[in-house]
Order: sequence, then structure tokens, then C-alpha cells
Amino acid sequence: MPFASKPQIAAPDRTAGEGPHERLILRGATVIDGTGAAAYGPADIVIEHGEITGIWEASHSRTLLEPPSGEGAVEMDLTGKYLLPGFCDSHAHIGNWYQAPNAEYVYKLWLGHGVTTVRELGCFNGLDWTVQEARRAERGEITAPRIHPYPAFQPGPAGEDPILTADDAVAWVNNVAERGAKGVKFFAPTPEAFRAGLSEINSLGLGSACHHDQRRASQVHALQSARWGLASIEHWYGMPEAMFRDRTVQHVGPGYNHNDEPQRFEQGAHLWLQTADRGSAAWEETLEEFLSLGTTLSPTLNIYIGSRDAARVRTSEWHQEYTAPQLWEFFQPSAVNHGSYMGDWGTEQEIAWRHAYQKWMSFVNDYKNLGGRVTAGSDSGFIYKTYGFGFIEELELLREAGFHPLEVIRAATLDSAALMGIDAEVGSIEKGKRADLQIIDEDPLANLKVLYGHGHLRLTPEGLQRVGGVSHVLRDGVVYDAVQLREDVKHLVTTEKEAIAEGRPLHAH
Ligand SMILES: [Zn+2]
Repeated sequence: MPFASKPQIAAPDRTAGEGPHERLILRGATVIDGTGAAAYGPADIVIEHGEITGIWEASHSRTLLEPPSGEGAVEMDLTGKYLLPGFCDSHAHIGNWYQAPNAEYVYKLWLGHGVTTVRELGCFNGLDWTVQEARRAERGEITAPRIHPYPAFQPGPAGEDPILTADDAVAWVNNVAERGAKGVKFFAPTPEAFRAGLSEINSLGLGSACHHDQRRASQVHALQSARWGLASIEHWYGMPEAMFRDRTVQHVGPGYNHNDEPQRFEQGAHLWLQTADRGSAAWEETLEEFLSLGTTLSPTLNIYIGSRDAARVRTSEWHQEYTAPQLWEFFQPSAVNHGSYMGDWGTEQEIAWRHAYQKWMSFVNDYKNLGGRVTAGSDSGFIYKTYGFGFIEELELLREAGFHPLEVIRAATLDSAALMGIDAEVGSIEKGKRADLQIIDEDPLANLKVLYGHGHLRLTPEGLQRVGGVSHVLRDGVVYDAVQLREDVKHLVTTEKEAIAEGRPLHAH
């Protein structure tokens, strides 16, 4: 969501990471390739100048009979380890000053959780700032994932006239395309501007996403915008309205005011409870039509999860070490900060959301089972969701919705890459693709919690241990020590806390 913006400090020049190497061999890995295929291994992966040029698989006896030559190569021994594609976060925000002053903090949390690509929906630092960071990342000049900027469909600073007409929409789309946008994020445009904007976006080959603001959803629900060519539906808005058969607007109570965020979020649960039942004709028709239109769902299940258990998100294990102090302040119940709506959140609100989640998750899972594309997006930076950690929680929630762990990984890799139009380049471990990869000691298919940066708690004969957390992440063949990236984050958090305590500016360097 848009809000008052002050740009973050751009990332410093890259000092971390090694490579891309002329020839890098990852030996003995168990591969989870991102396509939905079962894990296999051991395998040796040959990477030359950042491209996967060879995959040498074991025979049926699980032995690699003819490994590739190591001559002139840098080698990493991955025996007993798991190799996955880098994750693509389909709904990300680098943020703005009021969440985390240093962009470096956000990038390192993403890479430290295996996220090597983000679809940046909203560009709170401004499109030009975001494009510049995306280009620096592309050239390997900063420690960051690939960044695809999708500016919000609005003229600029708050208070300017909205884009109302088809002509203005077309001109606006061309302007952002020339400046380097990879797509556009919509909220609640006029139907005329929305339709014309989508048409122009598709003719230019750009991407599109929409958060269907409920003020507009009675005119343009998610199915209508899908018919106009929208690529992805964000969050949960607009879909229940598409399935209304016994009403045409959401039934809100007397005194309801859309601009009262606590009220709006409380009412959100009831929106799902008011729509068609699972398995009804309306439900099935809607899913079928989304499928025929090729629409993607980017549900961001994790970002609202505090709605069903506020205490849990307030006390998440990672906050103390990994949540930047300004982000923590931004999360606190507030009348001004977006998403800080849990100032008086009680039993009744949580129970309604638990029921709403069941229905919403069924919709998402039914769509996946029909053959529809569902991606993993985090929307971190709001509602107690810290970058990186929120993305892993999204994977757990897709699992809860009914996805098999292999389907979860596919949503987070190849399917998100396909939505972004870069699945020929990244998103799976296949010959000819770029080496955007992650390495982990533990099997994430057995337990997704091992992907969290703070690790997973396990009782062993030696006592309680923290296991997991990605050990290395490769972006375009550059090998990063993911443990060190997360240590850098902890250091940044400590430094910012000290700076605030001493009244110094929040520059990291
Ligand atoms: Zn968002």
C-alpha cells in the first residue's frame, strides 16, 4: 500500500560473495529442482560463468559413476546437502525509510533466506531509485537479489490528480516503461483507466498485479480485471466479490468506514465468509474462468496471519535479533502506519479470521489442483513480518493450504519466475539456466522450518540445537555465505539500535 515516503539509503557497493567463477562444480548434492519433480541425487552441477552447463546424475544405485572433471574448477562438496533454486518472491517491497533505513538490511535478509529474485510491487522509494538499484543488482555491483520494479499505478506524490482516462493511462504506462519498469501494480483505478492501462501493459509485454481495493471491487472484481488481461491477483481481495451470487456488494455493518483500518481488516474476514461456499457452482465457475484466462494467484497468506493469532506475530523468535528498530516501531499499533491495525484485536476478530483463512486457503489450493498458477509472495515490512522470515512463513502456509512440499517449492521458484516472465532464465535447476541457487544442510521437504534464517530448534542427544538456515546462496553464479549475510543483518540491527539510543543518524557506513 502507498504511504508517505522517504527513500532508503541505497545499498553500498558489493564486498561480499565470490565469483562468478570460470568453472564451479557443486559435488554430491541432493537436488530439488523446482519443477515439482521429486528430489534426486547425488548429482554434480557444473556452472560456468554463472550458467548451469552440466548436471551429472547418479545411476539407479545412487552412485555417480562418471563425475565431471574438476580440472581448473572451484569445487564445493555438497555431500549430504540439499540444492534448490533460489526463491522468487512474487510480492515484495524493499520498503522505505520508516521501515528500514538501509536497503542493505532488506537485501541481505532476502539473500540470507535464499531469495534471489523479487517482484518489487509499489516502489515506495520511487521508480527511478528502484530501477537504479535493480540495474546495480543486475550488474553484480551490490549484494542483492534480482529486482523487478512494478511501480504503483498513480501519478506520483499523494495529492496529485489520479489517472482517470484511457489516454492518461496509456501515457503513464509508456512513461514508466521507458524509465525501466518491468510491470505495474494497481490498487483501485477507474474502470476506464484500468482497462486501457492493462491493454497497453500487455501490448508492451510488461507484467501486471492488482490489489483489488474494496472501494472499487463492486465495479471491478478480480475476475473482471482478469478478463481485461491482469496477470496476477494479490492478497485475498476481489476474489470473494467475483463469487457473490446473493448480493452485489460486501455487507458491512452500520458505521463502517473504509478509511478506518482496524475496521477494514476486521471486516475483511467477513468478506470471505459472505461469499459462495466451497464446491458451489459460483466457486467452480470462478476457478475455471481464472484458469482459462491464465491468471496467477499471489496470495501472500503470511502477511495477514497476525489477524488469526496476534500474540504469535508480536513475539516471533526472530524479532529481537533480526527486526530493525524502525521496522519494529512501524509494526506497533498505530493510527497512521499502514497495517498497524491491531490496537484492540480480540477473540472475536481472530476467530472470524481463522474461519476466513480456511475458505481462502481452500480456494488457493483448489486453483492449484485445477492447474492454475499460484506463487509465493511475502509482502514483508508490514504487520510484524520481517523480510525473509515472512517469505518462509508463506511456504509453511501454502503447505497448510494443502500444497505438497514439492508444490510449495515450485510455487516459490519456477511458478513465480514464470509469472515474472523469466522462467527460461531462472526458477529451476536445469541446464542452460542461470545459477541462482541455494544450499542447505537439512531437507526442507521434511520440514520447511529449516529454511528460517534463525534456524529450527531440535532436541538431540547432545542437547537442544539450532539446525538449518540456508548455508550458501548463489545469484548469477556469485557464491554468498548466507550465514555471514545473516550475521551482517544482526550487526546492522545492533548498530541501528545503538544509533537511535545515542541520537545518531541511521547510516550503516
Ligand atoms: Zn504489498
